[in-house]
Amino acid sequence: MKLKIREIPEGYSVLLQKISLESIKGEIPELVDDVTISGDINRISDLFYIKMHFDGLMKQQCSRCLEEYNFPFEGNLNLTIKEESGKHGRAPEEDSVEFYYDPQEDELDISSAFYDEIMVAIPIKPLCNDDCKGIEVNDTDIVVESDTVKRVPIKKDENWVDPRWEALKKLKSK
Ligand SMILES: [Zn+2]
Repeated sequence: MKLKIREIPEGYSVLLQKISLESIKGEIPELVDDVTISGDINRISDLFYIKMHFDGLMKQQCSRCLEEYNFPFEGNLNLTIKEESGKHGRAPEEDSVEFYYDPQEDELDISSAFYDEIMVAIPIKPLCNDDCKGIEVNDTDIVVESDTVKRVPIKKDENWVDPRWEALKKLKSK
């Protein structure tokens, strides 16, 4: 995403944009379309406070039927950008801001801020549909063996005490 940061006015403004996340394309699942972001920006002199909601569609492969499908994802992201001469781009982790913006530059690429958000949105067990039946297989190929495992109920005897504890108890009472 490239923010046209010079165009952001002092004070409050609305943010509504479609972004391609081009610069992190190879590191995240393939996106079906651009990601939509909506939110607001509060610019107070050299600081930009951005609050946004994003949503999009990523390509996933169903873990049951192995078909590709579009998985919707969304999230919220808050960013603080500081204008500072000679610095442009992602700020080091220990800094209090996420990005620096050099006033010599017109745009700022903030795609990398979406990386973590998108990675956590990836489903652990992707399913094209909750009721997905999986790959169709010939019924005769499946042999279901039942009643082969005998369950032995464990009796819980509350009066039973581990003999080692019993020995310890005797020692203690002496
Ligand atoms: Zn499926």
